[in-house]
Amino acid sequence: MPKKVLIVEDEANIAELLRLYLEKDGFEIAIASDGGTGVSMAQSFEPDLIFLDIMLPVMDGWTVCREIRKTSKVPIIMLTARGETTEKISGLEMGADDYITKPFEVKELMARAHAVLRRYEPDGAQQQRKLSFDRLVINMDSYELLVDGKKVDTPPKELELLFHLASTPNRVYTRNQLLDEVWGFDYFGDSRTVDVHIKRLREKLENVSPQWALTTVWGVGYKFELTQ
Ligand code: CA
Repeated sequence: MPKKVLIVEDEANIAELLRLYLEKDGFEIAIASDGGTGVSMAQSFEPDLIFLDIMLPVMDGWTVCREIRKTSKVPIIMLTARGETTEKISGLEMGADDYITKPFEVKELMARAHAVLRRYEPDGAQQQRKLSFDRLVINMDSYELLVDGKKVDTPPKELELLFHLASTPNRVYTRNQLLDEVWGFDYFGDSRTVDVHIKRLREKLENVSPQWALTTVWGVGYKFELTQ
């Protein structure tokens, strides 16, 4: 299931820019262009995350935030204009989780979105620590990779990357998502880091089984694909 993001923003170009990048990152998007619609869509669309502008028609962002908080704990990131520090504080007092200043860097915005979503992951989400596939076991308790029952020396990050991909088979991750989710959002490394780790994993896993593969999705990223 893709995560759903509601964008409450009356400036169509900003809303569309957000939609473009979030959709590219695999999110399902809805846009509300005024505050009243924002409040009702927060219920009907059931988003996992809301980007909320402050200066909105019908109902301003603070009021929208307060209204949503009456019924929902959905994470909210406020979009504030440059220099509106009092607005940032008000937004956080109204129950917003974070704020980002316009004009924003898309990379920063995506990092914030993932960070906020991660904080809200249900506790059980990471419980599965051992994954088994045909001739392959990824064990994150012992940090071991087993191919045909034999241990294959694998550096921690490679193993974490493989585990992350294999936890949700067939789901495509962008390089930036993987950097964010495996290396952490403080890590501003090059996306080639991901390519290098994938390459090393492939050398270890090539021709092990016809039932799964580390697949490149051209122009998007990578997935752990179940092929049979
Ligand atoms: Ca506005």
